[in-house]
Amino acid sequence: MEDRIEQLATKLRAADQGVAFTGAGVSTASGIPDFRSEDGIWQDHDPQQFHIRAFEQDPAGFWDGMLPVYDDAFDVDPEPNPAHEAIATLEKQGHISAVITQNADELHQSAGSEDVIELHGSMQEVVCQSCKNRKPFSDARSRAESGELPPECGDCGGPYKPDGVLFGEELPKRALYKAHALAEKCDVFLVAGSSLTVQPAAGLPETAAKQGATLAIVNLEPTPLHDVADYTFREDVTSVLPALAESV
Ligand SMILES: [Zn+2]
Repeated sequence: MEDRIEQLATKLRAADQGVAFTGAGVSTASGIPDFRSEDGIWQDHDPQQFHIRAFEQDPAGFWDGMLPVYDDAFDVDPEPNPAHEAIATLEKQGHISAVITQNADELHQSAGSEDVIELHGSMQEVVCQSCKNRKPFSDARSRAESGELPPECGDCGGPYKPDGVLFGEELPKRALYKAHALAEKCDVFLVAGSSLTVQPAAGLPETAAKQGATLAIVNLEPTPLHDVADYTFREDVTSVLPALAESV
């Protein structure tokens, strides 16, 4: 493995632009369950509760049902792990220019990453559905817990929705546009902790590889791009990424 990490480090050193792309596997190392997989959190809760239609039809019921799910998912105060820290280090060193993430927990920002493109929004914020005013999730949550269902915008009275992308909801267009632009011009595209099965995000590494970027994938399970990638590491993200940040 060391040889291949050294080779990848050489590619990153020579790159004009490197990009990291992260999925649930980077968050699970911090104790956060994988929200979009079929097992994990959905063993005990109904995913239809998190569908955009459930919110639109009954915002009060949505919030009432969501609070215990949220408690289950974030009962420990999650902290960034060595994979988040290594990605932040790579950005500080100038070897990657941004991290595109499918995670909605803001742990990349906590670790010090500055350019974070959130394809699935953020579960740490809420957005007013009328005026698009944003507030910390914790504000809306404490109001919901004290009986304000749904929690409403202080400016216009519209209902707050978690910024995190719900089932059945489209990915934020601006984030997706930025992510595509990076995939089309980067020299190195580094995937970490994603099984690359959730579209349209999974198309990004393919775009990068097609235009000639070096594609590296760090994921315990095989991915559909196994044969396309220049480097694959079927290893833990918390061991490969720190080793890469060290050798680059
Ligand atoms: Zn509002």
